[in-house]
Amino acid sequence: MDFNYSPEDEAFRRQFRSWLEANLPKDRSENPVDSVRAEGEEGWQRRLKWHRTMHEGGWVGISWPKEYGGRGASLMQQMIYNEEMVRSRAPLLVNGLGIMLAGPTIIQWGTEEQKQRYVPKILSAEEIWCQGYSEPNAGSDIASLQTRAVEEGDYFIINGQKVWTSEAHHADWCILLCRTDPDLPRHKGISYLLVDMHSPGVTVRPLVQITGDSNFDEVFFEDVKVPRKNLVGQKNQGWQVAMTTLMFERAGVGGRRDLSAQVKELAALAKMVRRNGTTAWEDSSVRQKLAQFACEAEAFKYTAYRQLTRQLKGLPPGPEGSIIKLGTTELNLRMTNFAMELLGPYSQIDYRAPFAIDRGQWSYRMLASRGSTIAAGSSEIQHNIIGERVLGLPKG
Ligand SMILES: Cc1cc2nc3c(=O)[nH]c(=O)nc-3n(C[C@H](O)[C@H](O)[C@H](O)COP(=O)(O)OP(=O)(O)OC[C@H]3O[C@@H](n4cnc5c(N)ncnc54)[C@H](O)[C@@H]3O)c2cc1C
Repeated sequence: MDFNYSPEDEAFRRQFRSWLEANLPKDRSENPVDSVRAEGEEGWQRRLKWHRTMHEGGWVGISWPKEYGGRGASLMQQMIYNEEMVRSRAPLLVNGLGIMLAGPTIIQWGTEEQKQRYVPKILSAEEIWCQGYSEPNAGSDIASLQTRAVEEGDYFIINGQKVWTSEAHHADWCILLCRTDPDLPRHKGISYLLVDMHSPGVTVRPLVQITGDSNFDEVFFEDVKVPRKNLVGQKNQGWQVAMTTLMFERAGVGGRRDLSAQVKELAALAKMVRRNGTTAWEDSSVRQKLAQFACEAEAFKYTAYRQLTRQLKGLPPGPEGSIIKLGTTELNLRMTNFAMELLGPYSQIDYRAPFAIDRGQWSYRMLASRGSTIAAGSSEIQHNIIGERVLGLPKG
């Protein structure tokens, strides 16, 4: 691992940093990740506007090939970009699932016509995307999905239901997994379709999360007509395409988390709240706990660097993706639960209440932290992957 940046990378950092300084909204929130809570239509429109500013500046999907509107940026530059976005408290972009999942999958598997049609509008967020994989009886075991697509002339006719579909209420398009041949073995007989969410027969119903937000939905498909040209890859061979999307998801979700900033915020909370006539920070057991979190956050940061090094050497993504996803989401869960201990009885105050300590952010984060241990493959599933593929244990 070489921790030095090349002069080109440093120049790239300066260029992006000065662009951000000139263009960032002045009224942006303290913590962009928390700012999406209870966002509402007005907040969404604000982020959409910011996304378009970034896109006009050429700062969306920077690692995508230039021919599809990206900058062809290196992995190292992508990392610098992520660091600068966090450092400057830049608002989150919209269309995360389009940029992280749909776009790269279409670039890899799509026909030239599909690439030309969909990819530019993903980057510009003219079209928002969602991911229709999970179903009421197919989550971890996605191969048992039952949504049916029956071929009729130039169309597929879709019937079935998806669930936990993030951003479906904003989405114009969906990457949808359907069963096209129920007689084939489970992993075969699945196809990957691009579905217009405004088609007749698509119904989106919001689901309320434990945080009170409604960031995901259940989606019903009733005789929805999808043109055959919206098939990605071959009919009945959608599993391979679906795995490509999952690979991008794990790499994206795992690689983004650096929890060291959150450790510092937790230390600030310990200095703010009082217990036994002094601040919680004065209690050595509290400081030890924070030191433990700090060590773990650093360890995951370097594991992420190790993953980056592998990729820079041209090796395929290693098991680090699962280790980082599992480790950071579980660490986040423990940290937010510890914040509840620090807050004591104040932890029970609704995060929107005027008396909530530290803008209620810890109660909100604690409620949200469970979801991230489930999304993109639950902790148990990551344990299975690490057990089987890293430790070589037999399948359970
Ligand atoms: C915030 C959030 C956003 C999401 N967004 C999307 C989205 O945009 N699109 C989408 O398609 N899905 C989305 N999901 C769904 C997510 O992918 C599933 O919830 C997840 O894969 C688990 O599936 P499940 O909920 O059906 O639980 P199940 O698979 O039924 O699992 C139930 C429990 O059993 C455990 N378990 C299951 N199988 C095994 C096993 N083999 N070994 C050990 N333990 C096991 C699980 O870990 C879990 O604890 C989202 C979920 C969340 C929380």
